Amino acid sequence: MIVTRFAPSPNGHLHLGHAYSAIVAHDLAREAGGRFLLRVEDIDGARSRPELAAAFRQDLKWLCLTWQEVPAQSTRLASYLEAAEALKARGLLYPCQCTRAEIAAAKPAIGPEGPIYPGTCKGRELTPDARIAWRLDVQRALAITGPLEWVDQIAGSQQARPELLGDPVLLRKDEPASYHLAVTLDDAADGITLITRGADLFAASHLHRLLQALLELPVPEWHHHDLLLDETGRKLAKRRGSPSLADRRASGEDGLLLAEQLRLHAFPSGISLGKD
Ligand code: GLU
Repeated sequence: MIVTRFAPSPNGHLHLGHAYSAIVAHDLAREAGGRFLLRVEDIDGARSRPELAAAFRQDLKWLCLTWQEVPAQSTRLASYLEAAEALKARGLLYPCQCTRAEIAAAKPAIGPEGPIYPGTCKGRELTPDARIAWRLDVQRALAITGPLEWVDQIAGSQQARPELLGDPVLLRKDEPASYHLAVTLDDAADGITLITRGADLFAASHLHRLLQALLELPVPEWHHHDLLLDETGRKLAKRRGSPSLADRRASGEDGLLLAEQLRLHAFPSGISLGKD
């Protein structure tokens, strides 16, 4: 059975791009007689606001989607720590105390997910009391797993290239786990068979495939859809003034009509579908 999910983070209101993403996931499940899940990704404790998660549910209802909600990430922290400890015990994580400034000073190459960790503190003595993040040693991990593949329904079969992202942080200094570790574990725990999300997260899937292999998790398929872009060709973002779904709801707009228009790619003026 096809199981998809929509996994928003409650650190800002949803906008049209999120509505499109939720509809893609919802419809792919429904067309196949499968299940569509909602998972609130509230791992970023300082920035997460429960009232936003409540607004998300109202937004989805307004769009006339139906879903089953699974537990939010904040209830699953123990599973992230357990997985990270298992990776540590296998020598696959190393501690990192670098600050952003130190990493920037090393003039790192910029990868698809931002600066590639330049190895500034690999092998360096740890400073007692300073906060520690834990990074995955990608080369060591790949030496264990060997070459890996994954399938995107749109882009086709992919050779996993997690090295493109460098050694990612899996346990963050201030938060229990990184997005990468949490989302990979949760998708497996929730039985997701088809990970649908925007093409801006395409590169992250290389790493998620590696984590699945290391943690012996089932391997789903992916469906990275194009993004809704504004008139400047950049993906919609609340901070660039894209109206929120909550604002649209409050103004009396018809949610079902909007959902139908998004399905037909009949976007409001100035908005198009493409790569960021
Ligand atoms: N929580 C992530 C976000 O809001 C989405 C993660 C995903 O779909 O994998 O960007």
